[in-house]
Amino acid sequence: MTPPDLQDEAARLHTVWRELGIPGVVDVHTHFMPANVLAKVWAYFDSAGPLLGRPWPVAYREDEDARVARLRAYGVQRFTSLLYPHKPGMGAWLNEWAADFAARTPDCLHSATFFPEPEAGEYVGAALRSGARVFKAHVQVGAYDPSDPLLDPVWEQLEEAGTPVVIHCASGPRPGAHTGPGPVREVLRRFPRLTLVVAHMGLPEYTPFLELAETHERVHLDTTMAFTDFGDFTDPGDLDLPRLAGLQDRILLGTDFPNIPYPYLHQVEALVRLGLGDDWLRAVLRDNAVRLLDL
Ligand SMILES: [Zn+2]
Repeated sequence: MTPPDLQDEAARLHTVWRELGIPGVVDVHTHFMPANVLAKVWAYFDSAGPLLGRPWPVAYREDEDARVARLRAYGVQRFTSLLYPHKPGMGAWLNEWAADFAARTPDCLHSATFFPEPEAGEYVGAALRSGARVFKAHVQVGAYDPSDPLLDPVWEQLEEAGTPVVIHCASGPRPGAHTGPGPVREVLRRFPRLTLVVAHMGLPEYTPFLELAETHERVHLDTTMAFTDFGDFTDPGDLDLPRLAGLQDRILLGTDFPNIPYPYLHQVEALVRLGLGDDWLRAVLRDNAVRLLDL
């Protein structure tokens, strides 16, 4: 699809921020990757592959500079460069790329990742020492069990550091061998102080992941694609608004920019129309991330 008009979309987003009295937002779930990796991701979305199960037109297929400029124009004051390996041997190299990207993009939070492999503890330690502020784990694409003992040194260090891990661990858009709340519950049983940000509000296992956030004070949820009109994957059915209101300090704006099949504005409007009020929106769009990431 043709990317939405930048000036028009920026003006509409700034109207929302102005009405809430915030200078902009923090988006904890955006993707920047090496060009050849992103090209593969886009080819996958184009093919509507088996993990997607539906046509998925990427809205912001532009070069890297244009994508960064867009986030800045939208008032996204801080964002991430979430990347993730789908096989062993990629983690350390992806982390080097992300460190370099953060160094030349000061408003991007230095992001890092890992895969269950013998070197994982070592390169995660190195990423932390070099200033990584947020990690990404993709249980569906990586097709690994997050409670794999090879990850013990990873969880141990991340728990100790208190560094947030955005984890795609639920079964949307399609289930994987180790998706769903069970494996994450097991990780939390062993590393109860881990700071997790469950991607996509845990959809489609929405209620069990809300429960996990309610029972673990360091478990958060990101809004990525949730409550939008994209289809069954993004619609929790029973919104359970009192519960969402109760988790006001644990829900963070995430979008999946640039790989989303609709305009950025639609994600924001999907949150506004929940009707949970301005305080809730300010917390979710900005304040929770400022606190969690110490911005
Ligand atoms: Zn994502």
